[in-house]
Amino acid sequence: MVTRDDILAELGLTPTWRSRDSGGAVPPVAAADSAIRPALRQPSPRFAPLPAPAQDAGTRGARIAALAWNEFAADVDACIACGLCKTRNRSVPGVGDVHAEWLFIGEAPGAEEDTRGEPFVGQAGRLLDNMLAALSLARGRNVYIANVLKCRPPNNRTPEPSESAACRPYLERQVELIRPKLIVALGKSAASQLLGTDATIASLRGRVHRYRGVPLIVTYHPAYLLRNLPDKAKAWEDMLLARRTLATSDGSVVAGLPPSA
Ligand code: URA
Repeated sequence: MVTRDDILAELGLTPTWRSRDSGGAVPPVAAADSAIRPALRQPSPRFAPLPAPAQDAGTRGARIAALAWNEFAADVDACIACGLCKTRNRSVPGVGDVHAEWLFIGEAPGAEEDTRGEPFVGQAGRLLDNMLAALSLARGRNVYIANVLKCRPPNNRTPEPSESAACRPYLERQVELIRPKLIVALGKSAASQLLGTDATIASLRGRVHRYRGVPLIVTYHPAYLLRNLPDKAKAWEDMLLARRTLATSDGSVVAGLPPSA
């Protein structure tokens, strides 16, 4: 059986971390789970009814803005708004709990994700899963995982601005549908796209940003962490900040759609 210490060792965080915000006591995974599950059995009050279709429903943006969950993946799969549709094997819309409080956003699918149609299933994904487990979270349980781009850029190159712009309505619709209490931007692409800044991760981490009113924490991309092991400890600090932020936030503010931060 994989223990919490195994997970923290994988994160490069041994000797075992004890978060100060829990008074040094780390709850056993099972205890934390049972604290989450009852809340998840209730329909989330944050999951508001879908907005009525906009007048100009003929336009792509308005159509995507009105998509229901059961239409979302098929719509992404049929998308031909940028050239990535020609090289993808599968689109990768996102995965997880549609009532999640936590929304993790990465850059774009890689080779394994392109084959399987699910985000973060390669080596970086395994590290992300371990980071989630260290927080007593798991993909699909109070967590949703998405990317800025829903299709793989050839050779995993950095997304072009035009590709991010073409995919943006899908990301916005996901945020609107999920209404998370907290967003974690994994790496520069996600942070730049959500915050509209070209600033470095180092300068953005360690504080709480906002995306449409929702608290947003910036941290390193798991693929970067695999190459820069000492920064795993900083990523863990970011996760603890995220957990504290979520514990003190009083819910998302997506409803009124104030301008993006
Ligand atoms: N990197 C990402 O940003 N997203 C994935 O889904 C996989 C790797």
